[in-house]
Amino acid sequence: MTRDAMSGSTGDRMAKGNLFVVSGPSGSGKTTVCERVRDSLGIGLSVSATTRKPRKDERDGVKYHFMDEAEFEARRARGEFLETNCYNGNWYGTLLSEVRKYTDRGRDLILEIDVNGGMQVREKCPEARMIFFRPPSMEDLEARLRNRATDDEETIQSRLRKAEEELPFESAYDMTVVNHTIEQACEDLTRIILGERRGGNDEKRNPV
Ligand code: 5GP
Repeated sequence: MTRDAMSGSTGDRMAKGNLFVVSGPSGSGKTTVCERVRDSLGIGLSVSATTRKPRKDERDGVKYHFMDEAEFEARRARGEFLETNCYNGNWYGTLLSEVRKYTDRGRDLILEIDVNGGMQVREKCPEARMIFFRPPSMEDLEARLRNRATDDEETIQSRLRKAEEELPFESAYDMTVVNHTIEQACEDLTRIILGERRGGNDEKRNPV
């Protein structure tokens, strides 16, 4: 998918915002870092669609557009998604309309999605900047998951197994941010985004 195809336009040459994809193991701190950088740089937030039931404090249209499987499938058949992924028996997906809302107006957007969705975006949208976000080591990830004390042992083990599956995808991404500390990871992600706004990063594939 070309930039014009993504915007749905054929002739307009208005500068489009940059699309950044951030993927990496759950528990690596990427949500915190993406939120901080989004706030400090005024970057858009794409609201994903999901067939998962809302949790008790979740309102429709804030973190997710909640919908049933029939609606999700119908919208997928109409080509409304940039990418979709099934996780824990529920469908998740990025709506093209969410992406266009920002990039068509020259605003940057970060998509925080899993590696499976990331690979679909890379395929359809080669100009997307792919950023892999990871902890310094598996030992560090395990310590973080235990320290945050939100998950039981089974969930921790399942997150660690998923991380082992995701880490090999690092080489398919343009750049890596290693999260030694939240502050340093925010600085690295900020530098990548500002570098792209200035015309591109030369340090592709290297951990920053
Ligand atoms: P949760 O149900 O805990 O909110 O999210 C479960 C998983 O779905 C997380 O790993 C999250 O990153 C992923 N996810 C959320 N939205 C999307 C999306 O639009 N696309 C993809 N591929 N994954 C998503």
